[in-house]
Amino acid sequence: MSPSPGHPLAVLEQRLARQREAGLGRSLTAVGPATGRRVRIDGRPALLMASNDYLGLTGHPRLAEAACRAAREHGSGSGASRLAAGTLDLHRDLEERIAAFKKTPAALFFSTGYMTNLGAVSGLAGPGDLIVSDELNHASLIDACRLSRAEVKIYPHRDWRAAEALLAAEAPGGMKLLVTDGVFSMDGDLAPLPELLEAARRQSALLLVDEAHATGVWGDTGRGTVEHFGLESSPDLVLVGTFSKALGGLGGFVAADQVVVDMLTNQARSLLYTTAPPPAQAAAAAESLLLVDDEPWRREKLARLCDRLRNNLAGAGLTVLSTQGPIVPVLAGSAQRALDLADGLLKRGIYAPAMRPPTVPQGKSRVRLTVSAGHEEEDMDLAAEALAQSAREAGIL
Ligand SMILES: *Cc1c(COP(=O)(O)O)cnc(C)c1O
Repeated sequence: MSPSPGHPLAVLEQRLARQREAGLGRSLTAVGPATGRRVRIDGRPALLMASNDYLGLTGHPRLAEAACRAAREHGSGSGASRLAAGTLDLHRDLEERIAAFKKTPAALFFSTGYMTNLGAVSGLAGPGDLIVSDELNHASLIDACRLSRAEVKIYPHRDWRAAEALLAAEAPGGMKLLVTDGVFSMDGDLAPLPELLEAARRQSALLLVDEAHATGVWGDTGRGTVEHFGLESSPDLVLVGTFSKALGGLGGFVAADQVVVDMLTNQARSLLYTTAPPPAQAAAAAESLLLVDDEPWRREKLARLCDRLRNNLAGAGLTVLSTQGPIVPVLAGSAQRALDLADGLLKRGIYAPAMRPPTVPQGKSRVRLTVSAGHEEEDMDLAAEALAQSAREAGIL
């Protein structure tokens, strides 16, 4: 029965209807089983090109085993917040391993990457402080900026000169924070980190880099974009990352100077007012960092697959928004075109989602394919062929 006009549920129904009419409706697609390159969508088999499991670790037996062992030995929950009785030896060990991996003096483990950004940004900057943020930063950073109640200024994508000009303003509270994704999640391109770091130093600001899509993938040993650019950890640099993408698990972290970690231990509400991540999650996270070093072939294979897919797509005349790395956004234009392109792909047995506003700017809707070391070369050829055919059908080519 539909609610009567004016009922709060009728108001919600109207809002949803407007969103759907604009081609911006969303729903959850069930994918099963969750690991591996072949999944079932609505009962039909499909090649999964939508996961951020870049190294193919979500199905790795060592991670599953580490999680099982931790659950058997330490139980299913951690029982309290980190600040109360929830900090286990497992959390401590993991934090030491994160700091060693990122070559920083200290690290702090959070429940998710989203919660890490909320806690890190709002824990470092507050009312009277200044945050300068890239216009294409991840939604969790945008929400974090709002939550901080600091003054927030947005600069055009990757424009470090504009960022520096904004940082030159007064911050009566005394704290300036420059915030950027290392790899941008929708475009797959990189922040100009060396220039941003220099700008931050000249303006006495901290640079916070979100390495969610970079950790495990970028740099010769998978340490992230900081390693890719040949930068060293320094007191000006605050690294944020997640275990949910290339590392095949769940949980976020800050890797930074001891003072930053001490501050967040006192101030990060998304750390203090939530229950500590369970033993299985912490143990799998710790194991995943070892795997990055033990199985470098995954990173090498991933790079080969990405090159092959990009070459194929360029040969077909399609516009790819990034030049390197496992995020391969194929431009469609309108929201409807992106939906048509994704539908065409699914019909041909490939699952990759359409990205539409507000996730991406108007007129820049796209299908975002992601490559994993779990894929094979023939998958790249199949995907490119299916994209070319679907793009012709959708009027994009
Ligand atoms: C995915 C992502 C996050 C959130 O990480 P979760 O661990 O999934 O919560 C944060 N920042 C960026 C840039 C991301 O892409």
